[in-house]
Amino acid sequence: MQGACVLLLLGLWLQLSLGLIPVEEKDPAFWNRQAAQALDVAKKLQPIQRAAKNVILFLGDGMGVSTVTATRILKGQMAGKPGPETPLAMDQFPYLALSKTYNVDRQVPDSAGTATAYLCGVKGNYRTIGVSAAARYNQCNTTRGNEVTSVMNRAKKAGKSVGVVTTTRVQHASPAGAYAHTVNRNWYSDADLSSDAQRNGCQDIAKQLVYNMDIDVILGGGRKYMFPEGTPDPEYPNDVNQNGVRKDKRNLVQEWQAKHQGAQYVWNRTALLQAASDSNVTHLMGLFEPADMKYNVQQDHTKDPTLEEMTEAALQVLSRNPQGFYLFVEGGRIDHGHHDSKAYMALTEAVMFDNAIAKANELTSELDTLILVTADHSHVFSFGGYTLRGTSIFGLAPSKASDSKSYTSILYGNGPGYTLRGGSRPDVNDSTSEDPSYRQQAAVPLASETHGGEDVAVFARGPQAHLMHGVQEETFVAHLMAFAGCVEPYTDCNLLASAGVSNAVHLAASPPSLALLAGAMLLLLAPTLY
Ligand SMILES: [Zn+2]
Repeated sequence: MQGACVLLLLGLWLQLSLGLIPVEEKDPAFWNRQAAQALDVAKKLQPIQRAAKNVILFLGDGMGVSTVTATRILKGQMAGKPGPETPLAMDQFPYLALSKTYNVDRQVPDSAGTATAYLCGVKGNYRTIGVSAAARYNQCNTTRGNEVTSVMNRAKKAGKSVGVVTTTRVQHASPAGAYAHTVNRNWYSDADLSSDAQRNGCQDIAKQLVYNMDIDVILGGGRKYMFPEGTPDPEYPNDVNQNGVRKDKRNLVQEWQAKHQGAQYVWNRTALLQAASDSNVTHLMGLFEPADMKYNVQQDHTKDPTLEEMTEAALQVLSRNPQGFYLFVEGGRIDHGHHDSKAYMALTEAVMFDNAIAKANELTSELDTLILVTADHSHVFSFGGYTLRGTSIFGLAPSKASDSKSYTSILYGNGPGYTLRGGSRPDVNDSTSEDPSYRQQAAVPLASETHGGEDVAVFARGPQAHLMHGVQEETFVAHLMAFAGCVEPYTDCNLLASAGVSNAVHLAASPPSLALLAGAMLLLLAPTLY
């Protein structure tokens, strides 16, 4: 087995070292024709001037522009192409802007303060969620009076169905921005509250998930924050570390179910797919892990749904409302892969995120559904080194560094990939750099690689998508969603209602995802298809 693996990697190296170039690209007519076609498409672009019946926000946590490009190359290579020329689903959206991600108090932001910006439309401080910058981190008594309301909350008030889907715990900073107000993003359950927070009546995020507003669809991880301390986890009953953690002994899942006649709770893929296709289910909560969901490449796909499957399930339930819906979908673990300096994890998560975008694009019409795709912030992730065309995105630069050793195209500015010992760094070869658990090298040692401070992209399609232009504050994302959906403070948006095309689309459950297979086949396919 190991011998076969070595042979395979050798084959991969030989193929990729050649840097094969598609032959038609050597002909100027190829580029002239392609650009003329793109120009033709651009000239025919027509803004969709009506209101958006449905709004979907896709948030790739930590998906900076360098991550988008690397993901494009990876996804292209997974499909047997050289890579950089093959567009992502998000690349095909017609409108684009840059978003300035800083927090009020930090030049390089975190996912909490940014969530307040793009979900509520007001910039906040680092590590605080759903509160203005008048609220101070960890000071419970600065919460009250400084709450800001999410577009999701306003959409619910306007009669739309609403949902939150994420690959992290549903109480994590990004999804929490849609429903919670807290001065500390780590207050997941009451067990995490400081004594000051308890004394001053601050509520944990899990409790706010159930009581702040009525959310129709909640899908992701985060079971343990919902159940009384000591409650065994249904998936890991013998692992006490996965038990419920609530000190107040409340069963928040049961309390949530009791609020709605048609509310259903599921904790595995099979039950999710069943519930989503059952028209008696009006409210759906699916929590698939005790905390964050597993990386896609580490999931057991018979037990855990992919982000694409969760997105489709959410759309099935939400699209039954004739007044439309608001859906937030987060590819939350792109960020975690980067923090851990394991680019393979970050980029495979980003490919899955793009697959979920493709699914939503397919299941909704651009005539009535605004879809925005963005990130909360970037990472200090880069790829360079003049790699040959067709080189694996995880591969090596073709020349040696000044220390006569090889180096990978992907590098991190800082993080756990720091390996300098006694003035020298380890050499790297193709087989180590292609290992999914390989940590790319970093210039500065840190336990966790940091976010990056540069702008992120916002891709847009659908009604009012043309307003997504130029360089904007991150808050503009929330305001555009509110305006397009004609919800507060834009109820007098003066836009004609959309024709309701998406509702006619039959949202049937799709066959089991081949995503894992696709991920695993990456190395296998690459040498044969070039
Ligand atoms: Zn992060």
